Amino acid sequence: MEICTVGGFNEVGKNMVAVKTGEDVFIFDAGLYIPGIVELQEENLVEYAHRFQKRGAKPQQYSEKKLRDFGAIPDDTVLDELGWSKKVVAIFISHAHLDHLGGISYIAHRYPQATIYGTAFTIKLLETIIEDEKIKLKNKIKVVEANSTHTIIGKSGSYNVDFIHTTHSTIHCVFPALHTKEGIFFYALDLKFDNFPTFGAPPNYAKMRELGRKGVKIALIDALYSGTEAKPGGERVAQHLMEEAFSKVHEKNSAFFVTTFSSHIERLMNIVKLAKKTKREIVFLGRSLAKNVEAASKVNAWPFKDIKLLKYARQRESFFKTLEKNRGRYFIVCTGHQAEENSVLDRIVKGSLPFKFRAGDNLIFSSSVIPVPINIVAREKMDSKLRKIGVKIQTNVHVHGHGSREDMRELIAMVKPKHIIPAHGSLQQTTPLAELAGELGYKVGREVHIMQDGQKLRL
Ligand SMILES: [Zn+2]
Repeated sequence: MEICTVGGFNEVGKNMVAVKTGEDVFIFDAGLYIPGIVELQEENLVEYAHRFQKRGAKPQQYSEKKLRDFGAIPDDTVLDELGWSKKVVAIFISHAHLDHLGGISYIAHRYPQATIYGTAFTIKLLETIIEDEKIKLKNKIKVVEANSTHTIIGKSGSYNVDFIHTTHSTIHCVFPALHTKEGIFFYALDLKFDNFPTFGAPPNYAKMRELGRKGVKIALIDALYSGTEAKPGGERVAQHLMEEAFSKVHEKNSAFFVTTFSSHIERLMNIVKLAKKTKREIVFLGRSLAKNVEAASKVNAWPFKDIKLLKYARQRESFFKTLEKNRGRYFIVCTGHQAEENSVLDRIVKGSLPFKFRAGDNLIFSSSVIPVPINIVAREKMDSKLRKIGVKIQTNVHVHGHGSREDMRELIAMVKPKHIIPAHGSLQQTTPLAELAGELGYKVGREVHIMQDGQKLRL
């Protein structure tokens, strides 16, 4: 079995791995990486791509080239060099985050023979991106259920692939496990083991143990927080933090805003449940929020039919005029938790919308600042402007979506892989997982493999 770690091993973002067995190649994820907006909103990424488009140029070709030049998508030309490109049979997408999904629309045309597999929410978002970007893909797309198994016919035989349900910070997340003649390749990105999720089931531990009994040859594991001992709270903790934050909002005639990750459907549902108790009318503002909620709604993963989703600029303009005069009547969920340019919060703070924050208005950040300089600086600027006005800000009303060292330990104990490849970051993230594996008896260099972008490993 040969593994090419295409992207996501020199940086946090643009995750992509290719696995070759016999004459067949399988791709796992193809994400985006833009420094500073790693896990961020689609609207920024789409705008970014558009910024580089010349008039009259074919949009996707031009933006693909620019994204490549900038290093924002995985450099999968390495698969051409290896002679693997024509052999790609399938592309598996683990979940709907852009650092796993966002590159698919730019690279999949290079593998037109490959079928794309993903769960309903993931595929719905992919289809939205493809439609928005006016990209035409020839690939077959297959929607799979979490905890289902599919058979794929390749040149060198047939393969079963399990799509194993896990919890993380968006919905419909799976670990693809590829069964080959040479053993099982288990792709464990991304994860946080939440045993008491507020939506959906806990991770499918039984299936992971079953894989462990069958014998996993290689496990590629989410190392992002493997250096952290502290276990992140589950979504119930976030729900509790949110309830506390809501209880601090008293002003009946003040504006009430919450901002969070647009793809965090479970969080958004919990926000809505609490917001309903305020008796305010709930309005979602922002293109990426609308996209994610619409996608969730289309796959029956969004139970609220009575919430206004305002995604068009004109709708928003007129709504903001109404809000300015009736600030106590509405509850707003909006984009902008990282102070991203052109997000709803950014535009309010810059004064480009017919609504201005006032002293006593409330703003809850159900997020943490992604620790890269551009976000840290942007948020500091935004927060200081808001504080000067007298807006009551509550930040970090949030738990993050990646498991820490203990989750990794649990995963390794269940799956018992022969080889471990720490993934989802550079040495800073991957080294602590290698150390943990060392504690568990694995030999670093022989059974634990620290990889870089574009490298190949034969096991
Ligand atoms: Zn993720």
